[in-house]
Amino acid sequence: MVNTPVKWLFILPILFLAIFPTSQAAFADDVYKSIENPEAKAFGNRVCTNKECAKLAAMLIHNRNEKINPCEDFGAYGCGNFKITSNEKSYLLEGTQSIHRKLKRILESSPEPNEKQWCNLARSFYKKCLDTTSDVYPGLRVLLDEIGGWPALAAGTSDWTEFDESFEEYIANIHRKYQLDFFFKVKVFNVKHDNRRQNIIQVTPTLVEFNSSHLNDLSKHGSRFNPKLNIEQFDAELVETLTFHGEHKVLYDNTSISLQFPGTWYHYNYEFPNFDFEKYFTRLFDGIALFDRETVVAFESAEYFRQFHKLLRPENRRKVANLASVLVLRHLLDIPKTEQSCMYYMNSALKYPTAQMYIEKHMDRDAVLKATEMVKLVKEELRESLKNASWLDDQTRANAILKVDKMAYSVGYPENLFNDTYVEDNWNIPPSPSSESFYQLAARIERKLIASSLSQIKRQPDTISWEMPILMVNAYYYPTKNKVVIQQGLFQLPFYDKNLPDYVNYATMGFIVSHEIMHAFDNQGRFYDAFGNDVNWWENATSVKYDEKTSCYVKQYTDEGVDGMLTLGENIADNVGIKLAYGAYKRLLKRSGEYTEPALPTFEKFSMEQMFFIVYNHQWCSNGQIEVDANDPHPPEDIRVKMVARNSKHFSKAFNCEKTSPMNPEEKCSIW
Ligand SMILES: [Zn+2]
Repeated sequence: MVNTPVKWLFILPILFLAIFPTSQAAFADDVYKSIENPEAKAFGNRVCTNKECAKLAAMLIHNRNEKINPCEDFGAYGCGNFKITSNEKSYLLEGTQSIHRKLKRILESSPEPNEKQWCNLARSFYKKCLDTTSDVYPGLRVLLDEIGGWPALAAGTSDWTEFDESFEEYIANIHRKYQLDFFFKVKVFNVKHDNRRQNIIQVTPTLVEFNSSHLNDLSKHGSRFNPKLNIEQFDAELVETLTFHGEHKVLYDNTSISLQFPGTWYHYNYEFPNFDFEKYFTRLFDGIALFDRETVVAFESAEYFRQFHKLLRPENRRKVANLASVLVLRHLLDIPKTEQSCMYYMNSALKYPTAQMYIEKHMDRDAVLKATEMVKLVKEELRESLKNASWLDDQTRANAILKVDKMAYSVGYPENLFNDTYVEDNWNIPPSPSSESFYQLAARIERKLIASSLSQIKRQPDTISWEMPILMVNAYYYPTKNKVVIQQGLFQLPFYDKNLPDYVNYATMGFIVSHEIMHAFDNQGRFYDAFGNDVNWWENATSVKYDEKTSCYVKQYTDEGVDGMLTLGENIADNVGIKLAYGAYKRLLKRSGEYTEPALPTFEKFSMEQMFFIVYNHQWCSNGQIEVDANDPHPPEDIRVKMVARNSKHFSKAFNCEKTSPMNPEEKCSIW
């Protein structure tokens, strides 16, 4: 729903096998507790009375504003009272809080017998993260000493000893320990090279943000490390560090960034005579993986890497060490020690351990299987839409259908979540002794993760593991993997429950699935093929038609005051997404013959089609106080709902909106 990472590359197996129930009607009887009610004509005279239906109905009633005509302002009709009834900014945040509460209960309970070591590590991590009474400075000092010490803490004395290794080894040592933007970034990356997918090393120039306000923050820490510190001289060294960083900024800003093609180190070896990358890589991979001349590397911006050695003059050793220390310190102190941020950080750094603990307690396997079926039906619907889109030429259509066929999906949790060999490879970290500070523990975990990632070079690309946290209320599509991932947090109200009617589940999670799948065909995703390769598979004339069709959204959203170009991918995903979800739901009904589902209590007089849009709208309820980020490609929630309704013929038909009504304008945008 939110993220479309563009720089990940893997290929695809289809995950999770699911079995379709032999009879939908029999399946429905198992799920719903319902009563007869002749008022619910559109629902086969049945009203669902189970806990989930009652709960969702209560939410809908609480949040809507019935006085508003849905054809006038659909968003306000469904969510007008949300700000009065909810303590949270949105359901996305409310869902996150709910997961955090459940996880907190698990972490604070007594360990299970035979609990895995990594679960214990999560308990220690959480406890230490929340501990605000211990003095963190001795632990931070140890970490700074491990990278050769922070010279500014010895300002005015001769207590700092200049590191005696080369700049190459010094920088490699920091990159082994911390994932931070220290002159450049190194990542293991999966690309197509020599006609096969390979894990290669990508080296990217970076510039960390560091300014005078950061300087003031850091200045406060000096005397906490060393009460006898000469503050004046310490501050002077910080200013000098900022000036040095400014020199780096000038160099960085004045070099162009362009992707260099992957090549073996043998090929690159002679490109950068002034920085010994071989020495750097040898130190970086020492004890982790074999770096040799056959290792494939891609440098972004050869120009930068031919020049940045100018900063690494022998007289700059102290400045480089100061900059490294400042960056490490900022990196570590970046984890605010609040319950929320500890949870977020932990769900990222220890994503498999925490997800194992959570999912063992809270996962409903049937719910996951049912949601997986939904993904298959949405794919089927998209395949059909592509077949019927007359503006596609035959070759582009065939390429598009192949992309749908090959699209992988992972629903609820990764297939290897309980594969202890995998989890052990990545999170087999010795227990945290009581003397270890939170930051030392966080650094140890980070080092293990960096080493695990670097160890992937020359290995087969991993197509199964999730890169993003599992316990999130979200979903995403990876263009370079051609894969949709539905995260665990969506398995709760108002997004999904297996005991709710399908018109609810298809309008909520079904829409989210469809939205993500459409990212494969949005204005960026469409340039990746069925195998995640960055190739243009569109015939030129068809590409021109695509641009014409999508320019309709650009104009429409720009007229609403949002950046129509920046948000185009999301808008395509939203508008086609709702159509796919609706079509997939209709497909489900058709498959089961005369099948109808029960009404939600007190919603007997609505139609199933109206309910579909009402619950779709409802999942987007927010109190309007979510901070707007100018670079966010997602438009605000109210605009998302409004525009989807305005472009949807199904919506205006369901609510019988007059042609002149605001939610039913003459001009509608559509792709297929
Ligand atoms: Zn999206």
